[in-house]
Amino acid sequence: MASGSGSLMWFRKGLRIHDNPALEDAAKGTRFLYPVFVIDPHYMEPDPNSFSPGSPRAGLNRIRFLLESLVDLDLSLKKLGSRLLVLKGEPSEVLIRCLKEWDVTKLCFEYDTEPYYQALDVKVKTYASNAGIEVFSPVSHTLFNPADIIHKNGGRPPLTYQSFVRLAGQPSWASSPLSITVSSLPHVGDVGSCEISEVPTIEELGYGESPQDGFSPFRGGESEALKRLRKSIADKVWVATFEKPKGNPSAFLKPATTVLSPYLKFGCLSCRYFYQCLQDVYRNVKRHTSPPVSLVGQLLWRDFFYTVALGTPNFDQMRGNRICKQIPWNDNDELLAAWRDARTGYPWIDAIMVQLCKWGWMHHLARHSVACFLTRGDLFVHWEKGRDVFERLLIDSDWAINNGNWLWLSCSSFFYQYNRIYSPISFGKKYDPNGDYIRHFLPVLKDMPKEYIYEPWTAPLSVQTKAKCIIGRDYPKPVVPHDSESKECRRKMAEAYTLNQKLKGVVSEEDLKNLRRKLEEHPEQEGKSKRTRQKPVG
Ligand code: FAD
Repeated sequence: MASGSGSLMWFRKGLRIHDNPALEDAAKGTRFLYPVFVIDPHYMEPDPNSFSPGSPRAGLNRIRFLLESLVDLDLSLKKLGSRLLVLKGEPSEVLIRCLKEWDVTKLCFEYDTEPYYQALDVKVKTYASNAGIEVFSPVSHTLFNPADIIHKNGGRPPLTYQSFVRLAGQPSWASSPLSITVSSLPHVGDVGSCEISEVPTIEELGYGESPQDGFSPFRGGESEALKRLRKSIADKVWVATFEKPKGNPSAFLKPATTVLSPYLKFGCLSCRYFYQCLQDVYRNVKRHTSPPVSLVGQLLWRDFFYTVALGTPNFDQMRGNRICKQIPWNDNDELLAAWRDARTGYPWIDAIMVQLCKWGWMHHLARHSVACFLTRGDLFVHWEKGRDVFERLLIDSDWAINNGNWLWLSCSSFFYQYNRIYSPISFGKKYDPNGDYIRHFLPVLKDMPKEYIYEPWTAPLSVQTKAKCIIGRDYPKPVVPHDSESKECRRKMAEAYTLNQKLKGVVSEEDLKNLRRKLEEHPEQEGKSKRTRQKPVG
């Protein structure tokens, strides 16, 4: 029964119609529905000072993906008798203005664990409760409610995948039908003097002139997400035998994994619907892989990181983060820039960084390779710096998952076998001996013979000349020698782990400074003595 007043559906992530409990609730028993998206200029408008085209917070590829997702959402809403109301400004201020102006008695939005949204939500919820507006904010971005898992675990997040899976069990909705189709929505009410626009184009946001050679091949939106999902699950054998990390990180024409991450990030695809579709496939095959390596296992990794992130203060930094080892990373901006700008001189690493910059997506093991190289493998640069680059350039950039994986790859948390380093030479070669991936993303090396494609600096000058690529002129020499630097990194990690163990994790800035000094003063001698007796800790 229509109540005569309206509901406001605030889209942030969850940019979809299917399995959207906030939208479903907002549409129930109301005369008017206001579907709103607020463009935060800080997130969307050009920042000429950033190292890549984009806003202060996001690279252009992700902004474009978001705009495409909004256009698709608007189209779907229009088909259902509604439309997307796009407003601009600081989101909580804009929303409160709308709530004041419109005849709204209910506000619905998907619950979000990210600190940015948590801060926004406090402001908006406080206003709504003072104004007598009902708020409905369901959990639908993850399979489980991360707060429930933390509660079940006595107030602390589980810190291993296995304990997470044990605590989580089956999702409560696992075998209930999700609401996948909507046949119509209530009309949009009077918008008064609020300034509403259509979804802006990238040019309207001020990016017209920006040089951009090559956009990501992945288009945003729910329609695209569902198409991609259907294509992935149509191959039942592929789904049933999916086993990560067995895929090929260098496959780029047909990636080895689903590439659903950007759709899950923006909520163009419901992870719960994805989960149910996978269970359907499993029911129809004789045998299938299981977590942690299966596709359902990947979704559980996602929930695992969301849970730890929610329950860990300062999850996104080393300082004050109780699950993060304190390591004397260096602050070498030149090495960081070489890595970021694909100038390390290691073609496997540089090709991955070009793929990141151009596509905003790379295979999981490719991410492993470059994250390890930047931190504990070769350059010993702080993981937070690499995290920042990924956060900006990935189209699937996700606060909990990105930070969680950087903590993992830098052996700062979750994974502690720092002796296991990805070789920037032999790791990629295993999958792609001819170097097709490198030739595609680094065309300067396209004519380099396969014997040298992973180590072009070892090619005789005559070969470099024939390949029209002189190392040191057309393509850089290695920024560091891998063999000696990776040894040096292991030594530093061993020292840092010993310090963390000795001080029971309470390592001060001063302690780190002293360790840094010690490591710099006696590199060789320290290295020899420690290498013979250190064992990985943790
Ligand atoms: P599939 O293998 O098809 O998996 C399906 C889904 O499971 C993914 O879409 C993703 O939502 C989830 N998933 C898969 N692997 C992981 C994982 N290791 N941790 C958590 N969830 C996972 N993923 C992001 O979505 N956003 C990030 O910002 C991000 N940053 C990363 C940074 C580093 C240093 C590393 C090593 C990994 C990062 N990942 C991130 C995890 C992973 O690489 C991607 O989720 C995956 O490659 C996306 O491709 P896909 O959708 O084809 O994955």
